[in-house]
Amino acid sequence: MTNVAKRLKIVRDDLALAEQKSGRERGSVTLVAVSKTHSQATVSEAIEAGQTVFGENRVQEAMAKWPDLKAKYENVELHLIGPLQSNKCANAVALFDVIETIDREKIAREISREIAKQGVDPRLFVQVNTGAEPQKAGVAVEETIEFVRLCEQEYDLNISGLMCIPPFGEDPGPHFDRLAELASACGLGELSMGMSGDYATAIEHGATQVRIGSAIFGERQVFRAE
Ligand SMILES: *Cc1c(COP(=O)(O)O)cnc(C)c1O
Repeated sequence: MTNVAKRLKIVRDDLALAEQKSGRERGSVTLVAVSKTHSQATVSEAIEAGQTVFGENRVQEAMAKWPDLKAKYENVELHLIGPLQSNKCANAVALFDVIETIDREKIAREISREIAKQGVDPRLFVQVNTGAEPQKAGVAVEETIEFVRLCEQEYDLNISGLMCIPPFGEDPGPHFDRLAELASACGLGELSMGMSGDYATAIEHGATQVRIGSAIFGERQVFRAE
């Protein structure tokens, strides 16, 4: 077994335990393996070990890495989990199966236009800045309900759920609760929350998908991009 396969198994077992502890059905939480900064060879190890869902935070990096992998492995699902610029929306819609970071009207408009133009149907999440951090992407908590409504009604987007990245070093629980409350208020069923350090907590608080990088692939050589 490769190192990646070993770590993947540990994470999968731990995730199953967290599901069980939280009274969630086994296999009900989607594991998004965050492969940013890691090579095609490393990603291939995870795919060979049975992982099918992956996350990348940069459109440019994903475009260099994923077309080959998608051609070789047909059933992989790719999530965009990093901030989106309007000039990257066409490429993002073409490459990603799930876009988790819709956070402003300009992006909603561009994504909507590209979906119509390309005739594709990616699953979509709205990112919420639960900690009101100025450097972080995401719609403000108090604007979330209105923004989701705008996406749905004005831009005809089919929003599946909400995503957040709690402030580093803070207790993530209240942030996960806030996201869950907002999703419920918007009538959305999916919650993308929880990373290597806090995914068990996120599952307790209702996460339907967790985004895990370093616990699977090891430490990255660069600082975490937010
Ligand atoms: C990098 C990243 C992750 C994974 O972080 P780890 O701590 O390595 O698990 C999750 N979500 C987002 C948005 C990221 O950018």
